[in-house]
This record gives sequence, structure tokens and C-alpha cells, in this order.
Amino acid sequence: MIDSFSHLNYKNPSIEGRYLPWTDLKQITERWDSFVIKDLIGVSVNGNSIPVYRFGFGNKTILMWSQMHGNESTTTKGLIDFIGFLNTDSETSNKILNQCTLIVIPILNPDGASAYTRFNKNQVDLNRDFQDFSQPESVFLKSVFDHVSPDFCFNLHDQRTIFSVGSPAKPATMSFLAPAADKDCALTPSREIAMKLIAVINDTLQQMIPNQIGRFDDAFNNQCVGDYFQELGVPTILFEAGHYPEDYKREVSRALVFHALFSAVNSIACESYSSYPIDAYFDIPENQKNFLDIGVIHPHLVNKHIPKDSVVAIQYKEVLEAGEIRFIPEFHAIDQENKFSFHRIVDLSVLKSDLQTTVLHNIRDIVAAICV
Ligand SMILES: [Zn+2]
Repeated sequence: MIDSFSHLNYKNPSIEGRYLPWTDLKQITERWDSFVIKDLIGVSVNGNSIPVYRFGFGNKTILMWSQMHGNESTTTKGLIDFIGFLNTDSETSNKILNQCTLIVIPILNPDGASAYTRFNKNQVDLNRDFQDFSQPESVFLKSVFDHVSPDFCFNLHDQRTIFSVGSPAKPATMSFLAPAADKDCALTPSREIAMKLIAVINDTLQQMIPNQIGRFDDAFNNQCVGDYFQELGVPTILFEAGHYPEDYKREVSRALVFHALFSAVNSIACESYSSYPIDAYFDIPENQKNFLDIGVIHPHLVNKHIPKDSVVAIQYKEVLEAGEIRFIPEFHAIDQENKFSFHRIVDLSVLKSDLQTTVLHNIRDIVAAICV
């Protein structure tokens, strides 16, 4: 990866991996006390506070929130690192802070973050609650939006390992969307601005992860927060941090989120996005769902009922155990038509028991237990 402006200089060493409950951020956010917006503190279903921070004093207001889905922590890590950069008192960070005001909610769904689940404590997907407003977290985000009247919104998420881009398929390591503002997916002024900003981000990231950036499907659903804010006329961008090969802790995608945020915010600060063509957004290929975690070849060696030339697809289930996320392999499908690509191939013909890790033993046992 080309990394001229090094993320490593700003990477906060106190957070790592996938599990990121609010309590793990305390050490960091205690140092942000002077930035907290005192009259804007939300409360989750379970009674956890949802603080909002303000950085900078420019006239371009950017509202950003992460971990609306509690188990999607990669963008939070990248965001924390980006704020670390903003607080370095460098020429570039000061320029941004002079031009922009960043309103930041690091974890919108603290209950889901602590339980490592997409949903809030009431098992509601907050990103499908922007017509009903049935949950305190969605009501709170709307009240922050009303209070700060943002010029831009950044909606920060993780996507699953299944997302691919291009042909032959590569992992969609980062994806973006300028959500539709209406059911016709019209090019409204706010949407065009979002598209141009995504084109800027794409230019930056293509140098680091060529052909691994995808564009999400833009079908309109204003229960989703991005579509809802876009409908209200505020340029809104969906960021989705995805899988980089062998990076299940998502530390590489964390660096990419950092660069994506820098690139977008810097472009807003100097208004460079306005000269980008909309076509550059549509040139980004749409995401597909072609990837699975593990493909097991020669499965017939441990299970004679499985056709010889097929591939057994295994997906990891993410399980929270003693404060860590464990990746438990589970049978997903038998692929007889080469429908899928795999992040990793396991060949049962070269497995030697003395060399195998527990995980590979599990995989052999899973394949042996498949009933065809
Ligand atoms: Zn999400």
C-alpha cells in the first residue's frame, strides 16, 4: 500500500480489533472533555450516555456518527485516529479546523456496541427507524441534526466480508454511497455534492487499494438515515469499511477509513470537490455479494457424499467471548458451479494432522458432518 501521509503517525494504540464498547473509548474521550457539547447528550435505551463532540470553528459543518450498528467498529477506530490528527496543531489540521466544524458522535448505539450486535437494546435496526423514530438513539441523532444544521453528513458503517467488486472479484475493502433523495434516484443538488466527494475519496483510495472500492446500490428507502437526510437536502455519504485479505481485525480498513475521512474533510475545507465530475462516481463499480470466508476443496476426501469437484463454502460467525471477538467457522453452502470467490482456500488433500491448527480441524469436522 502507498501511504505517503502515514496513518501510523496518528493511530491510537489503545484500541484494536473488532470489539469496541463505549467503555474502551473512555481513556480517549476523557481527553476530549473540552470538546463535548454539553447540551447535546443522548441517552440509550439501556441508560448509557451518547456524547457529541465539536472540533473546529469553521463555517462548514460536518455531522458524523459511527457505530449506529453496534458491531461495526472499524469506522469508529478510523474516526478516533482522524480526530487524533486534527488535534496535532499542524498546518493542515489547523486549516481544516479553521474551515470546518466537525460534530462527532463516536458511538451512536452504545448498547449494541457493548453487546456486539447490529441492533439497539430493543432489537431495532436504528438505520431503519428514520420514519418511525421509535428509538431514543434515532430521535437523538435527528435532534443533533436539527440543532447543528449540518452542511454535510457522514454515516459511518462496516460491511460484511461477502462484498466484492469487479470481475474477477476482489474484496470490496471500502464502499460508498451517495444515497438517493427520492424513489426516482434523481440527481438532486445535495446528492451531486455527495457524489463528487465520493469521487475525491475514490481517487485517494485507488492509490492504496486499486480496484477494491465499491459503490452501493442506491434504491431509495427513507427509513435509512442517509436517504432521509439526503431527502432533507443535506449532502450525505455512506462509508462502509470492509474486508482486506487476512485482516479480520480490520486494522488495514481502519487506516483506509482514516484516509477516506481526511480526503473528504480536506476537500470540503478547500472546496476542491466541486470541480469533480459526477461520472467519476458512477465509474466506481457496484458492489456484488460474491465473497465467502473459506472455500474447502477436495471435500470428498472426508465426506464421500459431497461431489468431488465441488467446493464447500464456510462462513465465519462472529461471537463475543470474554471481551474478544472469535471467528467460528460454519458450513454455508456447497458450491458446484464456481459461483463464489473465497478469501481463503483450504485444501483437504494436503491437510496433515500434525500441522493443523484447531480451526482447520474444525473445518474438516464441519465438512465431514455435512448431510447431502
Ligand atoms: Zn451498518
